[in-house]
Amino acid sequence: MIRKNRKRSKYSFANINFLGKCNLDCFFCLGKDLEKEFSKYNQLNTPPSELPNLDEFLNLCKELNIENIYITGQNTDSLLYRHLDELIDYLQEKWNFKVGLRTNGLLAKRKINTINKCKKSISYTLLTLDPEIMEKITGVGIIPDFDYIFRNVKIPQRVATVVTTYNVDEILDLIKFVSKYPQIRYFQVRRISTDTRYDEMKEHIEAFENFYEKIKQKFPQVDEFEKSPILDIYGVRTSFWRTVETTVNSLNYFSNGVISKEYFIIEGYLKYKEKYL
Ligand code: SF4
Repeated sequence: MIRKNRKRSKYSFANINFLGKCNLDCFFCLGKDLEKEFSKYNQLNTPPSELPNLDEFLNLCKELNIENIYITGQNTDSLLYRHLDELIDYLQEKWNFKVGLRTNGLLAKRKINTINKCKKSISYTLLTLDPEIMEKITGVGIIPDFDYIFRNVKIPQRVATVVTTYNVDEILDLIKFVSKYPQIRYFQVRRISTDTRYDEMKEHIEAFENFYEKIKQKFPQVDEFEKSPILDIYGVRTSFWRTVETTVNSLNYFSNGVISKEYFIIEGYLKYKEKYL
């Protein structure tokens, strides 16, 4: 069983976690840890002014000197939020935060102008460049047009992948692929994170650890960030990210109004849910 690192650094960012339906169905999705609960909610069409407790959350971010907010989804994708432009403007112009997004990239080409409004980086999930493997992992055999996206973004961005037994042999190729885009400065290799489905995810978690053991013999470690080793692979700073073992810390808002002071998504949601719902 994986132990959680309870020693967290001070808050460095906050997440706005949307609840709704996703355009992918990744088998490792953290939203599936609480699928029944999260599927009761959908705020993808709710304007920012009607998102419950949003201003309370933003005030808390200010009190804690948080400058950066990432819009993401727990069981959906940030680019599916219908009022995303309005929300970015509200956060950046009215509240003076710097906003970034996390996305699976499927809608990124169509929404490149929205992406280019963000003052912080966008994190794209790149699982594979092979449509068959994509279908196995996400249920959808479509690869976003990352070449177009990475050539048309204005500020440096980052790419993350999640190691599974399906794509583990392709991870180095993915890093090589992104290394040709000057706007991609950082690649994150993530270990699947789960609170409730460890046995189901075990072989994929082991695939990550085996991959890391092999790769660290070949490429130099050049840095560390919040307990996560950073290797130089093909000139790209590549971190190996075990979510629960890092020390990074964030506040979390869920679009149904729950505000969590915990970094751990599922635990925090369950802890604060009664207070807000
Ligand atoms: S893209 Fe993200 S939110 Fe959507 S299914 Fe995959 S992991 Fe879940």
